[in-house]
Amino acid sequence: MTVPSLSLNDGHSIPQLGFGVFQVPPDQTAATVTAALEVGYRHIDTAQMYGNEKGVGEALATSGIPRDELFVTTKLNNMNHAPDDVRRSFDESLRALGLDHVDLFLIHWPLPTQYDGDYVSTWKAMTELTADGRAKSVGVSNFEPDHLARVIDETGVLPAVNQVEVHPRFGNEAVRAANAEHGLLTEAWSPIGQGSILDDPTIGEIAERLGRTPAQVTLRWHVERGDIVFPKSMHRERMQENFALFDFDLSPDDVSAISGLDRGSAGRIGPDPATFDRI
Ligand code: NAD
Repeated sequence: MTVPSLSLNDGHSIPQLGFGVFQVPPDQTAATVTAALEVGYRHIDTAQMYGNEKGVGEALATSGIPRDELFVTTKLNNMNHAPDDVRRSFDESLRALGLDHVDLFLIHWPLPTQYDGDYVSTWKAMTELTADGRAKSVGVSNFEPDHLARVIDETGVLPAVNQVEVHPRFGNEAVRAANAEHGLLTEAWSPIGQGSILDDPTIGEIAERLGRTPAQVTLRWHVERGDIVFPKSMHRERMQENFALFDFDLSPDDVSAISGLDRGSAGRIGPDPATFDRI
Protein backbone atom coordinates (compact mmCIF):
# COMPACT_ATOMS: atom_id res chain seq x y z
CA MET A 1 0.00 0.00 0.00
CA THR A 2 1.52 3.35 -1.02
CA VAL A 3 0.73 6.30 1.20
CA PRO A 4 0.28 9.52 -0.82
CA SER A 5 2.56 12.47 -0.10
CA LEU A 6 1.10 15.96 0.18
CA SER A 7 3.04 19.13 -0.63
CA LEU A 8 3.58 21.61 2.18
CA ASN A 9 3.70 25.36 1.49
CA ASP A 10 7.46 25.43 2.27
CA GLY A 11 8.45 23.00 -0.50
CA HIS A 12 8.67 19.88 1.69
CA SER A 13 6.22 17.01 1.55
CA ILE A 14 4.43 14.90 4.14
CA PRO A 15 2.90 11.40 4.06
CA GLN A 16 -0.88 11.82 4.37
CA LEU A 17 -1.12 8.87 6.78
CA GLY A 18 0.99 8.52 9.90
CA PHE A 19 0.96 6.93 13.34
CA GLY A 20 0.15 8.88 16.53
CA VAL A 21 1.62 8.02 19.92
CA PHE A 22 -0.50 10.10 22.31
CA GLN A 23 -1.09 8.05 25.49
CA VAL A 24 1.32 5.30 24.46
CA PRO A 25 3.16 4.63 27.75
CA PRO A 26 6.87 5.50 27.54
CA ASP A 27 7.98 1.95 28.40
CA GLN A 28 5.84 0.51 25.59
CA THR A 29 6.59 3.14 22.97
CA ALA A 30 9.63 1.51 21.34
CA ALA A 31 7.78 -1.79 20.84
CA THR A 32 4.60 -0.05 19.64
CA VAL A 33 6.41 2.16 17.13
CA THR A 34 8.50 -0.80 15.96
CA ALA A 35 5.26 -2.65 15.19
CA ALA A 36 3.88 0.40 13.35
CA LEU A 37 7.05 0.67 11.24
CA GLU A 38 6.81 -3.05 10.42
CA VAL A 39 3.21 -2.53 9.29
CA GLY A 40 4.47 0.19 6.95
CA TYR A 41 3.93 3.53 8.70
CA ARG A 42 6.74 5.99 7.96
CA HIS A 43 5.30 9.11 9.62
CA ILE A 44 5.26 9.30 13.43
CA ASP A 45 3.51 12.03 15.44
CA THR A 46 4.82 12.54 18.98
CA ALA A 47 5.16 15.50 21.37
CA GLN A 48 7.29 16.67 24.28
CA MET A 49 4.09 16.43 26.36
CA TYR A 50 3.63 12.71 25.62
CA GLY A 51 6.89 11.85 27.41
CA ASN A 52 7.69 9.14 24.86
CA GLU A 53 10.09 10.77 22.36
CA LYS A 54 12.89 8.50 23.61
CA GLY A 55 10.91 5.35 22.81
CA VAL A 56 10.09 6.71 19.36
CA GLY A 57 13.80 7.35 18.80
CA GLU A 58 14.74 3.84 19.90
CA ALA A 59 12.30 2.30 17.43
CA LEU A 60 13.56 4.53 14.60
CA ALA A 61 17.18 3.68 15.36
CA THR A 62 16.68 -0.08 15.48
CA SER A 63 14.42 -0.18 12.41
CA GLY A 64 17.25 0.27 9.93
CA ILE A 65 14.92 2.42 7.81
CA PRO A 66 16.85 5.21 6.07
CA ARG A 67 16.22 8.58 7.72
CA ASP A 68 15.03 10.14 4.47
CA GLU A 69 12.17 7.62 4.30
CA LEU A 70 10.86 8.69 7.71
CA PHE A 71 8.79 11.72 8.67
CA VAL A 72 8.95 12.65 12.37
CA THR A 73 6.86 15.32 14.08
CA THR A 74 7.19 16.54 17.63
CA LYS A 75 5.56 19.45 19.47
CA LEU A 76 6.55 22.19 21.88
CA ASN A 77 5.26 21.61 25.40
CA ASN A 78 3.12 24.27 27.04
CA MET A 79 5.73 25.25 29.62
CA ASN A 80 8.29 25.97 26.89
CA HIS A 81 6.79 28.97 25.08
CA ALA A 82 9.46 31.49 26.07
CA PRO A 83 11.88 31.78 23.11
CA ASP A 84 14.89 30.50 25.10
CA ASP A 85 12.81 27.51 26.19
CA VAL A 86 11.76 26.86 22.59
CA ARG A 87 15.45 26.50 21.65
CA ARG A 88 16.47 24.54 24.75
CA SER A 89 13.55 22.12 24.64
CA PHE A 90 13.95 21.61 20.90
CA ASP A 91 17.56 20.53 21.52
CA GLU A 92 16.27 18.15 24.21
CA SER A 93 13.70 16.71 21.81
CA LEU A 94 16.36 16.03 19.19
CA ARG A 95 18.50 14.33 21.84
CA ALA A 96 15.59 12.21 23.11
CA LEU A 97 14.66 11.22 19.56
CA GLY A 98 18.31 10.52 18.69
CA LEU A 99 17.92 12.59 15.51
CA ASP A 100 19.83 15.48 13.98
CA HIS A 101 16.61 16.94 12.60
CA VAL A 102 12.85 16.56 12.81
CA ASP A 103 10.61 16.90 9.78
CA LEU A 104 8.02 19.00 11.59
CA PHE A 105 7.98 20.90 14.88
CA LEU A 106 4.67 22.35 16.11
CA ILE A 107 3.50 24.74 18.82
CA HIS A 108 1.22 22.29 20.63
CA TRP A 109 -1.32 24.83 21.99
CA PRO A 110 -1.61 28.60 21.48
CA LEU A 111 -2.39 29.31 25.18
CA PRO A 112 -3.84 32.76 24.39
CA THR A 113 -4.54 33.47 28.08
CA GLN A 114 -0.97 32.67 29.16
CA TYR A 115 2.41 34.36 28.52
CA ASP A 116 0.62 37.77 28.38
CA GLY A 117 -1.17 36.53 25.27
CA ASP A 118 2.13 36.36 23.36
CA TYR A 119 2.37 33.30 21.15
CA VAL A 120 3.95 35.39 18.39
CA SER A 121 7.46 35.44 19.89
CA THR A 122 7.09 31.68 20.38
CA TRP A 123 6.24 31.30 16.69
CA LYS A 124 9.17 33.52 15.69
CA ALA A 125 11.57 31.32 17.69
CA MET A 126 10.09 28.22 16.05
CA THR A 127 10.60 29.66 12.56
CA GLU A 128 14.28 30.31 13.29
CA LEU A 129 14.82 26.56 13.83
CA THR A 130 14.47 25.94 10.11
CA ALA A 131 17.55 28.05 9.27
CA ASP A 132 20.06 25.24 9.82
CA GLY A 133 17.68 22.45 8.81
CA ARG A 134 17.28 20.99 12.29
CA ALA A 135 13.53 21.47 11.79
CA LYS A 136 12.67 20.97 8.13
CA SER A 137 9.21 22.46 8.63
CA VAL A 138 7.45 24.25 11.46
CA GLY A 139 3.78 24.65 12.16
CA VAL A 140 1.11 25.04 14.79
CA SER A 141 -1.52 22.98 16.53
CA ASN A 142 -4.87 23.93 18.00
CA PHE A 143 -4.72 27.40 16.48
CA GLU A 144 -8.07 29.10 15.93
CA PRO A 145 -8.44 31.39 12.88
CA ASP A 146 -7.60 34.53 14.90
CA HIS A 147 -4.42 32.94 16.31
CA LEU A 148 -3.38 31.89 12.83
CA ALA A 149 -4.05 35.30 11.28
CA ARG A 150 -2.05 36.99 14.02
CA VAL A 151 1.14 34.93 13.70
CA ILE A 152 1.06 35.25 9.92
CA ASP A 153 0.39 39.03 10.00
CA GLU A 154 3.05 39.72 12.61
CA THR A 155 5.86 37.52 11.29
CA GLY A 156 5.06 37.01 7.61
CA VAL A 157 5.90 33.32 8.01
CA LEU A 158 3.23 30.73 7.21
CA PRO A 159 2.97 27.64 9.37
CA ALA A 160 3.24 24.50 7.22
CA VAL A 161 0.28 22.85 8.97
CA ASN A 162 -2.31 23.43 11.67
CA GLN A 163 -2.97 20.22 13.62
CA VAL A 164 -6.47 20.41 15.13
CA GLU A 165 -9.24 18.17 16.42
CA VAL A 166 -11.30 16.86 13.48
CA HIS A 167 -13.56 13.81 13.26
CA PRO A 168 -17.05 13.22 11.93
CA ARG A 169 -18.78 14.61 15.04
CA PHE A 170 -16.52 17.66 15.09
CA GLY A 171 -15.78 18.79 11.54
CA ASN A 172 -14.03 21.98 12.76
CA GLU A 173 -14.96 23.55 9.44
CA ALA A 174 -14.17 27.20 10.24
CA VAL A 175 -10.61 26.27 11.19
CA ARG A 176 -10.19 23.99 8.17
CA ALA A 177 -11.41 26.81 5.93
CA ALA A 178 -8.97 29.29 7.51
CA ASN A 179 -6.13 26.80 7.04
CA ALA A 180 -7.04 26.37 3.38
CA GLU A 181 -7.35 30.13 2.83
CA HIS A 182 -3.81 30.65 4.12
CA GLY A 183 -2.55 27.70 2.06
CA LEU A 184 -1.62 25.39 4.89
CA LEU A 185 -2.64 21.80 5.40
CA THR A 186 -4.94 20.54 8.13
CA GLU A 187 -3.77 17.66 10.28
CA ALA A 188 -6.78 15.98 11.91
CA TRP A 189 -6.12 14.81 15.45
CA SER A 190 -8.25 12.12 17.11
CA PRO A 191 -9.41 11.21 13.59
CA ILE A 192 -11.66 8.40 14.81
CA GLY A 193 -12.75 10.38 17.86
CA GLN A 194 -10.60 8.15 20.08
CA GLY A 195 -12.82 5.25 19.04
CA SER A 196 -16.10 6.97 20.01
CA ILE A 197 -17.29 7.35 16.41
CA LEU A 198 -16.99 3.69 15.48
CA ASP A 199 -20.48 2.59 16.53
CA ASP A 200 -22.21 5.33 14.57
CA PRO A 201 -24.97 3.77 12.42
CA THR A 202 -24.32 5.95 9.33
CA ILE A 203 -20.66 4.97 9.30
CA GLY A 204 -21.63 1.36 10.09
CA GLU A 205 -23.97 1.21 7.09
CA ILE A 206 -21.31 2.55 4.71
CA ALA A 207 -18.70 0.17 6.14
CA GLU A 208 -20.99 -2.80 5.75
CA ARG A 209 -21.86 -1.89 2.15
CA LEU A 210 -18.19 -1.42 1.18
CA GLY A 211 -16.90 -4.43 3.09
CA ARG A 212 -14.65 -2.19 5.20
CA THR A 213 -14.50 -1.41 8.91
CA PRO A 214 -15.93 1.75 10.51
CA ALA A 215 -12.37 2.89 11.34
CA GLN A 216 -11.30 2.51 7.70
CA VAL A 217 -14.36 4.37 6.42
CA THR A 218 -13.82 7.22 8.89
CA LEU A 219 -10.11 7.52 8.10
CA ARG A 220 -10.85 7.39 4.36
CA TRP A 221 -13.33 10.27 4.83
CA HIS A 222 -10.45 12.40 6.16
CA VAL A 223 -8.23 11.34 3.27
CA GLU A 224 -10.91 12.28 0.72
CA ARG A 225 -11.17 15.71 2.35
CA GLY A 226 -7.41 16.20 1.90
CA ASP A 227 -6.48 16.18 5.59
CA ILE A 228 -3.51 14.39 7.16
CA VAL A 229 -4.25 11.68 9.76
CA PHE A 230 -2.24 9.61 12.25
CA PRO A 231 -4.53 7.24 14.13
CA LYS A 232 -3.16 5.64 17.28
CA SER A 233 -3.42 2.01 18.27
CA MET A 234 -1.31 -0.35 20.32
CA HIS A 235 -2.64 -3.44 18.51
CA ARG A 236 -0.91 -4.65 15.38
CA GLU A 237 -4.19 -5.80 13.70
CA ARG A 238 -5.68 -2.34 14.18
CA MET A 239 -2.48 -0.71 12.95
CA GLN A 240 -2.84 -2.83 9.81
CA GLU A 241 -6.54 -2.03 9.50
CA ASN A 242 -5.91 1.71 9.85
CA PHE A 243 -3.11 1.52 7.26
CA ALA A 244 -5.30 -0.08 4.55
CA LEU A 245 -6.95 3.09 3.23
CA PHE A 246 -5.69 3.43 -0.30
CA ASP A 247 -7.36 0.60 -2.20
CA PHE A 248 -10.91 1.95 -1.96
CA ASP A 249 -12.74 5.25 -2.00
CA LEU A 250 -15.99 6.81 -0.86
CA SER A 251 -18.65 8.26 -3.12
CA PRO A 252 -19.36 11.99 -2.77
CA ASP A 253 -22.70 11.02 -1.18
CA ASP A 254 -20.98 8.90 1.46
CA VAL A 255 -18.51 11.72 2.18
CA SER A 256 -21.46 14.14 2.63
CA ALA A 257 -23.37 11.70 4.84
CA ILE A 258 -20.38 11.42 7.18
CA SER A 259 -19.79 15.19 7.12
CA GLY A 260 -23.47 15.51 8.14
CA LEU A 261 -22.69 13.90 11.51
CA ASP A 262 -21.02 17.16 12.63
CA ARG A 263 -22.40 18.35 15.99
CA GLY A 264 -20.47 21.62 16.02
CA SER A 265 -18.74 22.50 19.27
CA ALA A 266 -20.89 19.95 21.14
CA GLY A 267 -18.93 17.28 19.26
CA ARG A 268 -15.55 18.32 20.65
CA ILE A 269 -13.63 15.72 22.66
CA GLY A 270 -10.68 17.90 23.64
CA PRO A 271 -10.49 21.34 25.24
CA ASP A 272 -11.37 24.60 23.49
CA PRO A 273 -8.08 26.18 22.34
CA ALA A 274 -9.43 29.68 23.05
CA THR A 275 -9.59 28.95 26.78
CA PHE A 276 -7.22 26.00 27.30
CA ASP A 277 -4.49 27.24 29.63
CA ARG A 278 -2.78 24.21 31.21
CA ILE A 279 0.98 24.68 31.48
P1 NAD B 1 -7.66 8.33 17.66
O1 NAD B 1 -8.85 8.99 17.08
O2 NAD B 1 -6.52 7.97 16.79
O3 NAD B 1 -8.20 7.04 18.43
C1 NAD B 1 -7.32 6.16 19.08
C2 NAD B 1 -8.10 5.13 19.88
O4 NAD B 1 -9.10 4.52 19.05
C3 NAD B 1 -7.19 3.99 20.31
O5 NAD B 1 -6.68 4.24 21.59
C4 NAD B 1 -8.09 2.77 20.27
O6 NAD B 1 -8.75 2.66 21.50
C5 NAD B 1 -9.09 3.11 19.21
N1 NAD B 1 -8.79 2.50 17.89
C6 NAD B 1 -7.75 2.78 17.05
N2 NAD B 1 -7.87 2.07 15.92
C7 NAD B 1 -8.98 1.33 16.03
C8 NAD B 1 -9.62 0.39 15.18
N3 NAD B 1 -9.13 0.13 13.98
N4 NAD B 1 -10.77 -0.19 15.63
C9 NAD B 1 -11.28 0.09 16.84
N5 NAD B 1 -10.71 0.98 17.69
C10 NAD B 1 -9.57 1.59 17.30
O7 NAD B 1 -7.19 9.23 18.90
P2 NAD B 1 -5.87 9.96 19.38
O8 NAD B 1 -4.80 9.03 19.77
O9 NAD B 1 -6.33 10.94 20.40
O10 NAD B 1 -5.42 10.82 18.10
C11 NAD B 1 -4.46 10.36 17.17
C12 NAD B 1 -3.18 11.15 17.29
O11 NAD B 1 -3.42 12.55 17.14
C13 NAD B 1 -2.52 11.06 18.67
O12 NAD B 1 -1.90 9.81 18.90
C14 NAD B 1 -1.58 12.23 18.61
O13 NAD B 1 -0.45 11.91 17.83
C15 NAD B 1 -2.45 13.26 17.91
N6 NAD B 1 -3.16 14.16 18.86
C16 NAD B 1 -2.78 15.47 18.90
C17 NAD B 1 -3.40 16.35 19.77
C18 NAD B 1 -2.98 17.78 19.78
O14 NAD B 1 -3.38 18.54 20.69
N7 NAD B 1 -2.18 18.23 18.83
C19 NAD B 1 -4.42 15.91 20.63
C20 NAD B 1 -4.79 14.57 20.56
C21 NAD B 1 -4.17 13.71 19.67
